[in-house]
Amino acid sequence: MKPPWTAVIGFPVAHSLSPAIFRLFARDLGRPVRYRAIPVPPESLAEALRRARTRPWLGWNVTMPHKTAAARLLDRLHPSAQAAGAVNVVHFQGGRAMGYNTDADGFLAPLVRRGIGLAGRTAVVFGAGGAAAAVCEALKRSAAARLVVADRTPSKAAALARRFGAEAASLEPAAVAVALAGADILVNATSAGEAALLPPGLRLKAGAWACDLAYRPSRTRFMTDARAAGAEVLGGIEMLAAQAALTWSIWFGEAVPDRVVESAVEELRRVP
Ligand code: NDP
Repeated sequence: MKPPWTAVIGFPVAHSLSPAIFRLFARDLGRPVRYRAIPVPPESLAEALRRARTRPWLGWNVTMPHKTAAARLLDRLHPSAQAAGAVNVVHFQGGRAMGYNTDADGFLAPLVRRGIGLAGRTAVVFGAGGAAAAVCEALKRSAAARLVVADRTPSKAAALARRFGAEAASLEPAAVAVALAGADILVNATSAGEAALLPPGLRLKAGAWACDLAYRPSRTRFMTDARAAGAEVLGGIEMLAAQAALTWSIWFGEAVPDRVVESAVEELRRVP
């Protein structure tokens, strides 16, 4: 039997570790899978999704900048995607495309594993794209008491904040310093790469956690700066593996055992 067709679409997408992680799952679970990385510019997303419904695709992962737009272009949304307002998994079945969100639960998994409670906490999310929306949904569902969305585009920060009953802030250093005063958890869900997001001289609350969704390099500037400001830090590889495992179970109807997820994380940590 031919391996099922799967892919990640994004723009750019060459940096994605998703092909590597699905290769590791396929190897360890003995299930051959064809998984490609396909660059799809924003103006081609609707057409790409339309064509994909007529081809033998099993599923797509959707990455930046398409997660929010894709949610408007599919035939049906699973409650996970409705809640986040963003899609990172598409399952094609019988010419129809169903959207899911596994980023929210993927974000929570490494925190739960470490026993980091979110109920009653103050959280600050940098970014207002599809990944930020999933993180906001996860934080609200986990009963975070106060949530601030900080984005360089004020209208986007305001729109996302409104949807989740959060406060909006800019990414100006003074505004960031105010937003972060007393924060228990800060999350970088921007694609700002190695740009400086934290104001110089910042001191974070003792015991605060800083999570970067970015996973390349494995220690990002955000993580280095957050550590210097006194936070515990967590990079994006564990979340990547957790959301990929949930994707696998949607496409193949089988869970990925924890030991396979953990071994994939260890191998991916070695990717420069
Ligand atoms: P989007 O393109 O939807 O959103 C990108 C966000 O980053 C926007 O809020 C944008 O701001 C902001 N941004 C981009 N450049 C800068 C900059 N130079 N300075 C400040 N802000 C900037 O992307 P996604 O939400 O899909 O993904 C965001 C990041 O999260 C990516 O790095 C992605 O790889 C990562 N990710 C990791 C996952 C994991 O499993 N580890 C899962 C999902 C995402 P503006 O609103 O002004 O455009």
